[in-house]
Amino acid sequence: MKPLVDLHGRRIRYVRISITDRCNLGCRYCMPLGGVQWVPHDLVLTYEEMLRILRICIPRGVEKVRITGGEPLLRKGLSGFIAQVNAIGGLKDLSLTTNGVLLESMARELKDAGLSRVNVSLDTLDREKFAYITQVDAFDRVVRGICAAHEHGLSPVKVNVVAIRGFNDSEIADFAKLTVDLPVEVRFIELMPIGCISKYPEHENISAEEIKDMIEARFGPMEGLERGLGPAWIFRIPGAQGSIGLIGALSERDFCGSCNRIRITATGQLRPCLFSEKQIDLRGPLREGITDDELEALIERGVRAKPPGHGVCRGADLVHGTIRTMMSDIGG
Ligand code: SAM
Ligand code: SF4
Repeated sequence: MKPLVDLHGRRIRYVRISITDRCNLGCRYCMPLGGVQWVPHDLVLTYEEMLRILRICIPRGVEKVRITGGEPLLRKGLSGFIAQVNAIGGLKDLSLTTNGVLLESMARELKDAGLSRVNVSLDTLDREKFAYITQVDAFDRVVRGICAAHEHGLSPVKVNVVAIRGFNDSEIADFAKLTVDLPVEVRFIELMPIGCISKYPEHENISAEEIKDMIEARFGPMEGLERGLGPAWIFRIPGAQGSIGLIGALSERDFCGSCNRIRITATGQLRPCLFSEKQIDLRGPLREGITDDELEALIERGVRAKPPGHGVCRGADLVHGTIRTMMSDIGG
C-alpha cells in the first residue's frame, strides 16, 4: 500500500496518540497553576475510534505507535486497547509515555497485553524537588514503577528528563551516571514553549548541545550511536550499560527535516506539527459516520498539512506564547 508521505518528502512512520487529557500530577511546565478544566468524557475519542484511525495508518507504513496523555495509565481498559493495537499487526514498536505513578501495579498486565516498552518522565532525582515540580509527593512510587517496568521486560526503560535551567541543570550529570550503572536510556528534552509554559518565558530551556557538554565535562567524549525511529540522537558514555538520548526540538538545526510523526490528541484532532495550532478534526467526521476511505483521505490531508519546519526558534530566541493548547491534550 502507498506510504504516507508529506509534501516535503518525509515519510510518516510514527503516530503519537493521546488517550486522555487527565493527569494525576501537576507538572508546573505542563499544567497551568490553578488546575485544568478536564475535557468531558464524551469529547474524548473512544478506543474504537482510535483503532479505526490506527487501522488506516499502520498499513500505510506507520511502524511505531506511542500511547500518551495526560496520564495514559489513568484510562480504564488500557491493556485491552494495547492488545487490539497489537492485533492490527505490522508495528515494530508499541510504547507508552507515563509519569510512572501507577506503573508498579500495571507493568505486568501492560507487558502481557503486548506493550514493547515505556518512557517514564522523571525530572529530578531529589524527592523534595520532585514534589515541587509535579505538585505531588510521589517520587518513591515513580522509582518503584521504573523498577517494575524493568522487571517485567518493558525495556529498555527510557527516562524522560525535561531540562530546566535553575531547576535540574545541576543534576544532568547525575542522570547521565544512571546510564553507566543501569541498562536505561536517559533522554533529555528541551523545555518547549507550549501550553501554560508559553506564558512563562522566564522558564529557561537548556539546549541539547549544552546538555552534551555538561555530560562530557564529567565523563569525557561520548560515542555517537544510530538515530532510531524517534526524534532523539543517541549517545553512550564509553563502557556504560545504558545510553543517553538528546532531543533538540528547538536547537537542532535540521530537527524538522527528519520529522516522521503525526499526533492524535485526546479529543481526536490530528496535529501535523507539535508547534502549530493547525489541526484536522477527526472526531466529528468519525461520529457522523465517515467511511474508511473518507477517513483515510482526511488523514492524508493532515499529513499534507505538515509544515516544513516549526519556526519556533529565531536565532537563539524562542517565540513564546504561540501554542496555547495544553501539552496534556496533545501528549508531548
Ligand atoms: N503524563 C505522561 C508523562 O508525563 O510522561 C505523558 C504525557 S506528557 C505531556 C509527555 C511528555 O511531555 C513528558 O515527558 C513531559 O515531561 C513532556 N512535556 C510536557 N510539557 C513539556 C514542555 N513544555 N516542554 C517539553 N516537554 C514537555
Ligand atoms: Fe501530567 Fe505528564 Fe503533564 Fe506531568 S507532564 S502534568 S505527568 S501530563
